[in-house]
Amino acid sequence: HEGMYTREELKELVAYCAERGIEVIPEIDVPGHNEALAAAYPEFFCFPDHNTKVSTTGGVGLYLVCPQKPEVWKFYAAVFKELKDIFPSKIVHLGGDEAPTELWEKCPLCRQARAKASMRDEQEQMRDFFARMTSLLAKNGQTPQFWYEGNAGIYHPGETVYAWRQDQARQSIDKTKKAGLNLIMASNEYCYLDFPQIQGQYNWGWMQTTTLRKCYELDPAFGKSPQETGHIRGVHAAAWAEHLPDLNHLLYRVYPRAMAIAEAGWSPMNVRSWDNFRRKVADHRAFVLKRFNYDLERTKENEPPFRWENKK
Ligand SMILES: [Zn+2]
Repeated sequence: HEGMYTREELKELVAYCAERGIEVIPEIDVPGHNEALAAAYPEFFCFPDHNTKVSTTGGVGLYLVCPQKPEVWKFYAAVFKELKDIFPSKIVHLGGDEAPTELWEKCPLCRQARAKASMRDEQEQMRDFFARMTSLLAKNGQTPQFWYEGNAGIYHPGETVYAWRQDQARQSIDKTKKAGLNLIMASNEYCYLDFPQIQGQYNWGWMQTTTLRKCYELDPAFGKSPQETGHIRGVHAAAWAEHLPDLNHLLYRVYPRAMAIAEAGWSPMNVRSWDNFRRKVADHRAFVLKRFNYDLERTKENEPPFRWENKK
C-alpha cells in the first residue's frame, strides 16, 4: 500500500538478476487479492462498490473480478502485454489463492453464465476463468502458475502449482500427480521466511515459529517414493512483505533460513546432515552480513510489533 516500482526500475531489477542467473517471474493474483484494483476499477467486480479503499494490512478480501464483464478481459490483456515488455520470463504466476467465491455465487451475471454453461458450481466457474486467463497468456507465449488451493480439478494438465497450505501439502503430492500437474513445494511451516525464526519472536498472533532446523528438515517429497514424486519440480521459499518494515528486516528474516531451503531443494534426505549444514552456515555468516551491509543493531530496534509510521 506504500509506493510502487516504475517500469524502468523493474527492468533494471530483471537485468540485475539475469546477470546472476536468476529469472524473475511476475505474479498478478487473480481473481482475488486485488483490493487496489477494486478501488481503482470498481466496475470490474460483481457488485461494484465505489467506496472501496486500498487495505493497509494483509488478509483475504471477498472481491473477485466478475468474469462476465468484457472490460475485465480487455484489462488483463493490456496488463499481460505490459508485463511481457518488462519480464522476459515465459511464466506468469496468476495466484488464484484465497479467492472466496461467495460473490460469484450471488452475482446475477455469474449465475446466468453458470446456468448457460451447465456448470455445477463456482469451482467449475473458477476452472473456466483460469482457462480463459491461460489463453490470454498463451497469446504472448506465456504460461501460468498458481497457488494450489486443494482442488486439483480447477487447474489444467501440464500446469504448475505451488503447495503452500500446511494442511494440504502432503496430500497435494498425490492429487496433483493424478491431475497431471507439476508441483512446487512451499509448505508454509517450512518455507515461509517472514515467519519468526526464534522462539519468543513476535508472531502477529498467528505465524508459527519456523526455526532454521525446521526449515532444514523440509522433505519436499514428504517421505514418498521417487515414483510418486517425479512431478515435484522444486521448492519455493516465500517472504511476504506486509510485516517486514525494511530491507534490513527482510534479510534478518530470510537468512540463514533461505540456505536451508536451498539445500532441501538440492539434496536428497539420505545425504543431509544438520551438523554439516550448521558448519556451512557458519562459513557463510560473515559473507552474508558483509555482502548485504546488514545492521543487526538496527534490526533489534525495529523488532516487531513495529508501526509503519515509525519506519522512516
Ligand atoms: Zn459476477
